[in-house]
Amino acid sequence: MAVRISDLFHRRPFMRIFSGECAVHGQVDMSEVEQLDGSMLARGCKRCAWEALHTTPRESAERAQANAQRTAENLMAALVGAGITPRFAGATFDSYHAETDPQRKALAKCLAYAEQFPEHFRSGRSLLLTGNVGTGKTHLASAIVRTVVADGATALIIPAGDIVSIARASMVPGSGYTDRDVVVHLGGLNLLVIDEVGCQKGSEYELGLLHAVIDRRYQAVLPTVLISNLGAENLKTYIGDRALDRLRQNGGQQVGFTWSSMRAVA
Ligand SMILES: [Zn+2]
Repeated sequence: MAVRISDLFHRRPFMRIFSGECAVHGQVDMSEVEQLDGSMLARGCKRCAWEALHTTPRESAERAQANAQRTAENLMAALVGAGITPRFAGATFDSYHAETDPQRKALAKCLAYAEQFPEHFRSGRSLLLTGNVGTGKTHLASAIVRTVVADGATALIIPAGDIVSIARASMVPGSGYTDRDVVVHLGGLNLLVIDEVGCQKGSEYELGLLHAVIDRRYQAVLPTVLISNLGAENLKTYIGDRALDRLRQNGGQQVGFTWSSMRAVA
């Protein structure tokens, strides 16, 4: 059975279709669709929505509202597909609480990376977010993903362990894909954020796979954001000089999250 490799990585919002009563169209199919925070949003009558999009006067407020709703739905689906989880549904640059200088600096660097993404994309400039657990690395990386996805880029934020699991699952007979398909898919996204690097044992297979993904993106001059709880030295030991060099090419920056967990204080 052939598998669409992108379906393994990019979840689609859950949708529920049910029968409902429209004031205009009578008994119709209605639907509700999953939002980024995991809640469901009712979409009302499908025919009404279609008519608002296609049969209302082009310049009418109704048409503008229908278009805005469609844009919002598409963005929501793109964000779910980009791997932003309900836990980070509200993770934006505005919602990041920076109280100390190092925190403000980390915020500024990540914000700048997101705002200047077209330029970083063109030069394949990567970003390393390293440091302690609970310091908001995934929060800021999610905010970067959000920004670039809203601009129409293809992106994915995914824990390294999930990449390994999906690649390993390809070895099950009849899986319909190979771990090379995984590397090719991840190697082609406009932006890939690999989270929790260093949380795995670091077996030869795991590291080989990570190296293959990083290397493929490097060869294609595509930017990668790598997040790790390891400090700079330990990360170097874990992932190796070569992969780290790849991520630092063309002015790739490292942002250190050196303070202790903010979760404990919150
Ligand atoms: Zn209707």
